[in-house]
Amino acid sequence: MENFTYYSPTRFLFGRGKEQDTGRCIGDFGGKKVLLHYGGGSVVESGLLERVRESIKAEGIECVELGGVKPNPRSGLVYEGIELCRREKIDFILALGGGSVIDSAKAIAAGAMYEGDFWDFYSGKSVVEKAIPLGTVLTIAAAGSESSSASVISLETGEGMVKRSTMSDALRPKFSIMNPELTFTLPPYQTASGIVDMMAHVMERYFTNTRGVGVTDRLCEGTMISIIEEAPKVMENPRDYEARANIMWAGTMAHNNICGVGRQQDWASHGLEHELSALYDCAHGAGLSVIFPAWMEHVMSHDVMRFAQFANRIFGCEMDFENPEVTAKRGIESLKSFWKSIGMPISFEEIGAKSEDIPLLLDMLDLENRNLGVFVELTREDCEAIYRIASR
Ligand code: NAP
Ligand code: FE
Repeated sequence: MENFTYYSPTRFLFGRGKEQDTGRCIGDFGGKKVLLHYGGGSVVESGLLERVRESIKAEGIECVELGGVKPNPRSGLVYEGIELCRREKIDFILALGGGSVIDSAKAIAAGAMYEGDFWDFYSGKSVVEKAIPLGTVLTIAAAGSESSSASVISLETGEGMVKRSTMSDALRPKFSIMNPELTFTLPPYQTASGIVDMMAHVMERYFTNTRGVGVTDRLCEGTMISIIEEAPKVMENPRDYEARANIMWAGTMAHNNICGVGRQQDWASHGLEHELSALYDCAHGAGLSVIFPAWMEHVMSHDVMRFAQFANRIFGCEMDFENPEVTAKRGIESLKSFWKSIGMPISFEEIGAKSEDIPLLLDMLDLENRNLGVFVELTREDCEAIYRIASR
């Protein structure tokens, strides 16, 4: 196990009706004038926006609103939010939605406290040191941004989008309100995309070169097995409270790094996927469903026993010690079948991606200026091979 510092200060309020405590929570963290940030309308339709407004008003806290965050959140609205925060002297940001809204809120929170261009944090030019405090009311179990230190934004360049991430403990939410009932209205495709994303967050940690990580291996395995058990229940009955609750908490466990401390993590599949959602504007989880099995197939030989262990412990594939690659391949097939069974794509075609675009995707990766992958550091040729497998 490697040395680590773990800091995860988010206060979680979990369960039915918990959004009624939003105003009180903002007050606890010193908020007097809040920016209420949300997406394209689901929180208006569900009545959540109105309930949260009431809860904030009841505490005598002022409120300014900025809606319109799109999935794969864009830089344009972030710039708008930064201006608004400065003009209105906002001292707290509340994100009402999923990963896209929360990530946009994080970018605004950091950008408003920074003299330069907020994109510096995402291009690697600067690191977030301070941010306006923020809280979340989560409406989709997926990205884990409600407790993570990360934010992912797409820069609108005029010639397409550049999707990049940044990380800082200053971006961790002060509180996150998680009422599983708020996820009842999710369309099946979004529910399933979320399930893939949270599994991918565990897998990016699971495939590691670090040895002596038995506890985090088992935490990863337990989280993945639980997701696989609960997923069919939420797909079949979107109003199954217990299954929604388990999936929601699993999404947080998958990405608050409790499963990932003390071990090298990979994140190449996320990097390869971000170019797909940047170019085709597909759901992040759907892109991962296409890319992750292709990545596994390509890098499997680097540590075939780890892939065989994944197959055996997660999907119960029989361990073939003579030919562990047979077991490893069965694991990849089982993963694909599972994702397929919940309606997720497993090929380029299904997300509107084209093999002719592979050279463009490779350029977009910008490998001259950054590394991709830790379990296996990927060359341009590796990335091309993975995109080709995904496009078969
Ligand atoms: P999302 O993009 O926030 O939301 C997807 C869609 O679901 C939106 O159209 C949204 O509609 C709708 N929706 C959300 N809650 C709903 C509800 N309760 N009922 C009905 N519709 C609802 O989804 P996400 O998967 O959470 O976030 C994806 C983004 O997070 C990607 O950009 C990804 O790259 C990023 N990400 C971030 C991290 C991190 O640690 N920061 C990690 C992984 C991924 P409305 O707009 O109308 O609300
Ligand atoms: Fe993700």
